[in-house]
Amino acid sequence: MILLSCRDLTMTYDGAVAVEHVSFDVEAGDVLCIVGENGSGKSTLLKGLLGLLPVKEGEVLYQNGLRRDRAGYLPQQTPVQRDFPASVWEVVLSGCLSRKRRGPFYSAHDRARAESALDRLSIGDLRRRPYRELSGGQQQRVLLARALCATERLLLLDEPVTGLDPVVTAEFYGLIGRLNREDGVAVVMVSHDIKSAAGISTKILHLAKSVLFFGSAEAYRASETGRFFLEGRAHD
Ligand code: ADP
Ligand code: MG
Repeated sequence: MILLSCRDLTMTYDGAVAVEHVSFDVEAGDVLCIVGENGSGKSTLLKGLLGLLPVKEGEVLYQNGLRRDRAGYLPQQTPVQRDFPASVWEVVLSGCLSRKRRGPFYSAHDRARAESALDRLSIGDLRRRPYRELSGGQQQRVLLARALCATERLLLLDEPVTGLDPVVTAEFYGLIGRLNREDGVAVVMVSHDIKSAAGISTKILHLAKSVLFFGSAEAYRASETGRFFLEGRAHD
């Protein structure tokens, strides 16, 4: 069942092409990993899927009852965002805002969603802590909980493990894998470290403005593009 189709998508910044003729589908059950060098258009593509940046050509179609405002998003983090002065509870609850039709006020239903997201990611005990004082791994869990408030069906995660050590990275992928398998959430995840994501990825989209490869993770590993990229990074 297709949740999202991206058809011949082209995106530009002031005329400079950042994403070119990109087509792929996201299906229920997928963990799609988007890989590519810095500047290859990964973050731009995610923002295009979410309607946060305009699309020059092509289209993004949400299907089978999924709506764009029912996708959960974890943006690529900047140092300023890591210093955000709010409590964990406030950060998680703010994930409900994307679903809102009217008004800035949270409903009992919103609070219940935030509660269940905290629970699901085992961070209920952090709820009163200032977000900025948490470790990198805890902060990413909080942002994942925030993204979960928006969705039951599709998470879009932009470099969710960058800067985390290998143990915390493995834990974080474990959480994502569980959300996928146990809760049936499809995942689109940007990573520049494909090897650590390989365990939970079912499909790979290799981007270099345009699509170098799109297909199963298995086919990617056997492909020339995949072998070159994986071996080229073997000594990182
Ligand atoms: P990635 O996430 O793969 O590192 P990005 O999507 O951030 O790549 O960037 C793709 C290209 O678009 C790069 O050449 C980058 O310099 C350019 N770019 C990204 N954001 C902007 C922006 N706000 N204004 C102008 N150019 C941008
Ligand atoms: Mg990026």
